[in-house]
Amino acid sequence: MNVIVIGGGAAGMTASVLLARKHCNVILLERGERLGRKLSASGNGQGNVTNIDMGPEHYFSDDRKKVARALARFSNAHTVRFLEELGGIFLPDPRGRVYPAGRQASAVTDLLRAELARLGVDVRFNAQVTRLSFDGNFRAVCGGQTFSAEKVILAAGGKAAPNFGTDGSAYALAEGFGHTVLPCSPVLVQLRCDPARVRGLKGVRIDALLRVVRRGKEIYAGRGDVLFTESGVSGDAVFRASSYAEKGDELLLDFLPDVEEERLRQALKRNTGAEKLLCVVNNALGRALWKQSGGEEAALLHLLKSFPLTVTGTLGFAYAQATRGGIPLAETDENLQSVKRSRLYFAGEILNVDGECGGYNLQWAFTSAHLAAEGALS
Ligand SMILES: Cc1cc2nc3c(=O)[nH]c(=O)nc-3n(C[C@H](O)[C@H](O)[C@H](O)COP(=O)(O)OP(=O)(O)OC[C@H]3O[C@@H](n4cnc5c(N)ncnc54)[C@H](O)[C@@H]3O)c2cc1C
Repeated sequence: MNVIVIGGGAAGMTASVLLARKHCNVILLERGERLGRKLSASGNGQGNVTNIDMGPEHYFSDDRKKVARALARFSNAHTVRFLEELGGIFLPDPRGRVYPAGRQASAVTDLLRAELARLGVDVRFNAQVTRLSFDGNFRAVCGGQTFSAEKVILAAGGKAAPNFGTDGSAYALAEGFGHTVLPCSPVLVQLRCDPARVRGLKGVRIDALLRVVRRGKEIYAGRGDVLFTESGVSGDAVFRASSYAEKGDELLLDFLPDVEEERLRQALKRNTGAEKLLCVVNNALGRALWKQSGGEEAALLHLLKSFPLTVTGTLGFAYAQATRGGIPLAETDENLQSVKRSRLYFAGEILNVDGECGGYNLQWAFTSAHLAAEGALS
């Protein structure tokens, strides 16, 4: 059987490996000059491939139940087994994030690339598919060439991080078969906030409890690194919150989540002026909070435990790690085969599934690639 796989990211490489192992003739068409560019950059270059705390509650989709069924078929343990069969050791960190023991994301790409070579998969670079049609067979047009196959796996990614080859133009290939593309927005991304509040704080990094509040109701709370930037906030806690936060929401930061208010009140009595905050919080943060409090202790206390920021937007797709939106899961069957055009399958970020920060998006790439490959083989 001939299969065309469009897109050489984590999902496309994985699907190609699985198909080639079952003796399919696979042509992997990659728009760029290298495979797995996004995978190689993942997890700050360390490759956070999955998480030990796995379940549909960590995902956003138009059909979370289907995500649950997909994860039941191919979950975190399967990912680790699949990768370790290629080589290497994969271990969780204390937060449950699973990385290669060598902590190099590019080495995960290298494992997949080596397996593709071993299996003799025909990989074409600089091969952007601009047209996909069906006349009994699929025809994929790239530049002056047309490739034909009985089945296609479309694994061309979403809109996030276009510097890795994913600008969203591949959605049109699915639209050509009558698919809907749900509106896309960037997630796992820095949040923009009211500039007056973050002035003077650029570069300050702090461990904080971050709450997202919408119309007075808390919709998310999580603890981790918050990094102040020129236009807002970044860091691990913010990336996780960005899966939930929308423009107009309020972020409330507790800079001292382990310290009760009474203990803090006592500490603030010991000195005067901005010196009250010495050894309480980072000095630059202390000075800014003192200024914003107008020197009033109650206001200062409030800012320390519940520093408010209004979300005015995100830094956009260029800086995002994942895409919300895309091809609805509802337009696919249990093996992610198109309900509009049989023998066309989807895998990875092109589908309307995005996970929280922490290895969930790569898990989805591996899960969906396995399901799509299994479908294509049946
Ligand atoms: C900086 C960064 C860090 C990240 N860190 C993590 C992490 O630690 N853990 C985690 O779980 N997730 C992480 N993610 C998200 C995760 O990497 C992606 O969700 C995942 O790699 C998506 O895999 P994919 O194969 O679906 O798509 P991609 O990896 O985006 O691959 C799609 C491929 O298709 C190619 N392509 C596009 N259009 C065409 C076309 N028309 N013809 C041919 N080829 C085409 C592209 O060039 C690209 O190579 C991170 C993302 C970024 C940007």
